[in-house]
Amino acid sequence: MPVPQDIAACRLCADRFAASATGHAPAPVVWFRPGARILVASQAPGMRAHLSGKPFDDPSGKRLREWMGVDDATFWDRDRVAIVPMGFCFPGYDAKGGDIPPPRLCAATWRRAALDHVGQVDVTLLIGGYAQDWHLGRGKVTDRVRAWRDLAPRTFCLPHPSWRNTAWLKRNPWFEAETLPGLRTAIGDTLAR
Ligand code: SF4
Repeated sequence: MPVPQDIAACRLCADRFAASATGHAPAPVVWFRPGARILVASQAPGMRAHLSGKPFDDPSGKRLREWMGVDDATFWDRDRVAIVPMGFCFPGYDAKGGDIPPPRLCAATWRRAALDHVGQVDVTLLIGGYAQDWHLGRGKVTDRVRAWRDLAPRTFCLPHPSWRNTAWLKRNPWFEAETLPGLRTAIGDTLAR
């Protein structure tokens, strides 16, 4: 069976999710196909994406599209953008309402096969610490984002576009002034080819 259908049918975390404060069932959000030029290596779907089945269908996604300089149609065009998170399902909230990290089991089970299914891309966005650690080894998000020129224009380390990082954005104005123009140029060049 092809990989996307395998992942869509996966229920490995059913017990884990049932035990979370959200008590939800697995609902993998699978949004990639071979031939995409841009890889969004992200964390995990949020509650809204869990309900809609569409990745980044929320304010974080709106911010991410602004960062990338792409419209909705381009972002959700699987022939151009592959979205491969560290966890394909919404991990749920803990008893205090905090986000539960993506289950390690998901990347261990599916990540390599999903990336191989997408194939070679021109630009990779590594969003947040979980994806950055998997692709690059352990490190600090701010250090990696600050050193964006080391990997550009093929790879960009980004903070998560969540509202929780609004204070981080205010503390690090160089990100919007320098990193994002570099990111938009790389993405624009790729989409124009
Ligand atoms: S998070 Fe990943 S491993 Fe767990 S049920 Fe969803 S697809 Fe399967």
